Formats: sequence, C-alpha cells, structure tokens
Amino acid sequence: KKIHQTEFLLSAPTFKLCPDDVGFEVAFAGRSNAGKSSAINTITQQKQLARSSKTPGRTQMINFFGVGSENSRIVDLPGYGYAAVPEAMKIKWQKELEEYLVSRKSLVGLVLMTDIRHPLKYFDEQMLHWAKDGGLPVHVLLTKADKLKHGAQKSALLATKQQLQSLELPFSIQLFSALKKQGLQELALVLGEWLQL
Ligand code: GDP
Repeated sequence: KKIHQTEFLLSAPTFKLCPDDVGFEVAFAGRSNAGKSSAINTITQQKQLARSSKTPGRTQMINFFGVGSENSRIVDLPGYGYAAVPEAMKIKWQKELEEYLVSRKSLVGLVLMTDIRHPLKYFDEQMLHWAKDGGLPVHVLLTKADKLKHGAQKSALLATKQQLQSLELPFSIQLFSALKKQGLQELALVLGEWLQL
C-alpha cells in the first residue's frame, strides 16, 4: 500500500518555505498531545516518522511527508494549545495558518485530531471555521479511543458529531487508537481518496 511508502520531505518554520503548491496535500492538526504523531506513525507504519511534541512552547516546524511521491503529501502542522507561546507569535502564526488553510490550492482535506476524552475546544473550532472558509472537507479522529469503554466511545462519537453538525461543513468522523491499531483502515480509505493514491 502506498501509505506505507511515506517519506519525510522537509521541515519548514513558515508556510513561505513549503513545497510548490502542486499535487495533493492533507493537513494533520490537533492540540499538543492529541496523539497526532502517534497517528501519523501508525498509519504510515513508520516508528519515528513524525516526532512527538514533547517540549512545551518550543517553536515547532511544519513537516511535509511524501506519500508514494512528493506530489501526494501529508502535512504535519504544529500542535497547538500551549499557553507558553508568546501572544504576538500566536497571532502571526494564526494568520499564516488561516492563509494556508484558505488559499493553498493543493490542500484537499484536513484531518483534525482530538483526544476522545476532550471535546473540541476553541482553537479546534477555529481550525474548522478556516477549513470551512477554504471549502475543505474535514475528517475528525477521536484519538486514544482505547482510554474509554465501548459505550463511552459511542457517546463521545455522537456528541462530537453533533458539535460538528452545528458548524455546517462537510465532515466525517471516526474512532482511532494508535495503541490498539483501531480505525487504521477507515483513515487509510479517506487518505487514499483525498491524496489520489
Ligand atoms: P502529539 O503531541 O499530538 O503528537 O501526541 P503524541 O502522539 O506524542 O501522543 C501524546 C501522548 O498520548 C503520548 O504519551 C502517547 O503515548 C499517548 N498516545 C498517543 N496515542 C495513543 C493511543 O492510541 N492510546 C493511548 N492510550 N495513548 C496514546
């Protein structure tokens, strides 16, 4: 499967230095600690492809990975939600992020990750609004699903679905666990479609 032939392309501190706007790109976003690196490493079956965001407040890079070829890309956006980042930097970064989500032509979808135990928060919703402005479909992963029992997983899924429906954008949602390898196929299908694999 092509998704297993994912290779690191480049790290950029700003979108100005990102690859040419050709081909297809899917952005992965989520709060720090949401399980984004684990999800990327699990889906691509590569142990250390995406590195975990362990240092609070550290200036993080935008990482680009090529799936099969450099014209089908996964973009690992910096995790958000650390209070330690200075306000001015936050604002600058948010402007850039908004511009990227709204005007990047090769961007075909957003995968938004949230810990199944936490509902979508303010900045998640901000991301969703920008995705909507950019006409992007959103695929939501409720990560670390193994942390909840079956019944609680179902209720979390339903609650988040309702939260998303109120935003009136095209979305899909699934349970995911990197630990239990739950939901891999479902995610691979979405990526396969979006990245034309
Ligand atoms: P990131 O900051 O969003 O990249 O998150 P990481 O992938 O580094 O994960 C953050 C923490 O959650 C780490 O301690 C992981 O071991 C843990 N974690 C990630 N995925 C899962 C999962 O599927 N199940 C459980 N139980 N823990 C997970």
